Amino acid sequence: MPSDGAEHRSPASSEAGNTLFIDGAWGPAESGNTRTIRCPADGNAVATVAEGGRTDTERAIAAARRVFDEGTWASGSPWERGDLLLRVSDILVRDRAKFARAESLDTGKRLVESGYDMDDIAACFRYFGKIAGTDPGHVVDTGSPDTISRVSYEPVGVCGLITPWNFPLLQVAWKVAPAIAAGNTFVLKPSELTPSTAVLLMEALTEAGLPAGVGNLVLGPGKETGAVLAEHPDVDLVSFTGGLHTGRTIAAAAAGTVKKVALELGGKNPNVVFADADFDTAVDYALTAIFLHSGQVCSAGARLVVQDELHDALVDEIVRRVELIRLGGPFEEEAETGPLISAEHRSKIEAYVAKAIDEGAVLRTGGRRPESEQFSNGYYYLPTVLDEVRQGSYAVDEESFGPVLTVERFTDEDDAVRIANDTHYGLSAGVFTSDAGKAQRVAGRLRHGTVWINDFHPYLPQAEWGGFKQSGIGRELGPGGLGEYQEAKHIYQNL
Ligand code: NAD
Repeated sequence: MPSDGAEHRSPASSEAGNTLFIDGAWGPAESGNTRTIRCPADGNAVATVAEGGRTDTERAIAAARRVFDEGTWASGSPWERGDLLLRVSDILVRDRAKFARAESLDTGKRLVESGYDMDDIAACFRYFGKIAGTDPGHVVDTGSPDTISRVSYEPVGVCGLITPWNFPLLQVAWKVAPAIAAGNTFVLKPSELTPSTAVLLMEALTEAGLPAGVGNLVLGPGKETGAVLAEHPDVDLVSFTGGLHTGRTIAAAAAGTVKKVALELGGKNPNVVFADADFDTAVDYALTAIFLHSGQVCSAGARLVVQDELHDALVDEIVRRVELIRLGGPFEEEAETGPLISAEHRSKIEAYVAKAIDEGAVLRTGGRRPESEQFSNGYYYLPTVLDEVRQGSYAVDEESFGPVLTVERFTDEDDAVRIANDTHYGLSAGVFTSDAGKAQRVAGRLRHGTVWINDFHPYLPQAEWGGFKQSGIGRELGPGGLGEYQEAKHIYQNL
């Protein structure tokens, strides 16, 4: 299960660990510390990066603050910032293979999935490039010829951007592209587990013409780098994607300076299947909904909520298909799903499944590591189905963030809505039915930020993404995603 042998290093760093990008220059962490990144599929070393800390983060914040306060970038033409983003998009298309390979080596994700992610990432930069200059604000009718009034949009300032490991560059793109479009400066802190494509992106931004100090990259553990971004008085906005617990910590830290906070957190997302759904479609999507990227997807359809009369047939078929899923490393073309991100994460999922079974869930398949020797150096876990989980149980309420599908039953439309909404999360949901009216009624009643009907997982750069309830605060993508990085200013003049 080789991660394909070769060690990759950032082309930015002639020496290992020269991977912090502050004020337009690459360099090491002040401490000289480095971290070796290992491919989760086989444990092979794939990169060595700088491991920064508080002082590195403070240097990056100071650079971003200085450049923002100088004003040239922030008050520059939004059309020119848009052109820059379009150039970045072109570079990402040109270098798609290089980026996808680096992403797969860091995450263990199948190369084909990393390639699709790259298409979405390039599309995100293109979208924000195109809308950067399109909304100059609006004139407000004061009702008097003696006054004029208008509302315009300005950048928020210095943005701290903190991202997770599951879609490393995609989550970065959703923040960096609108931050640039709106004229902010930023300090990016990607997950310490998957930093390689963030390094490559900073090179792409530089090639596209981003001025020194506008975009800064600090690598390192969240508690020593991200935490500084959340609490620092010179950071005006912190945009975070990651787990609920970390989100709460960041929101509390940010409260000290009342900075703007955007949170994209977890989800335990219901996939509601009515008895009148097309059977094969419902099976196919139920599998993709949860087992894409080994379930390490915030919007994974991890709760199958199925109508009573369909339950047995649907779950039997899903279990049959799950047992055919082929595991493998990122470069194995036959593989249908890959490893988990780390040994620690796999241990958490093992404990999660054990607790669910203790609470009465019925293990239908999986629930253990694969036995074959070929998987022994990677962090693999078999796709798992837990049937008959109860409302209010741990397995229904908590996110496993792994390849674990839980199954609940419902009786009718009202019951389906009640059960699907019975969660403190509210990120995404699926509805499968052949009744278009019912589909729209149910979608309208679901308290989740995205609802897919007879589909699962597609998202569009032009449509807002984010969570209801404890799945987050604010939105990414779409016009609302740009708005997160803007301040509205009302200017009123007495003539
Ligand atoms: P995490 O919360 O452990 O870490 C995310 C980022 O926060 C990392 O960069 C980490 O270094 C940093 N961090 C950790 N502690 C910090 C602190 N005290 N202060 C500041 N920064 C800190 O999450 P993860 O394990 O990397 O990612 C998995 C989680 O992300 C899941 O819960 C998943 O649902 C969520 N997620 C949500 C979305 C979404 O769009 N809503 C997308 C992807 C992932």
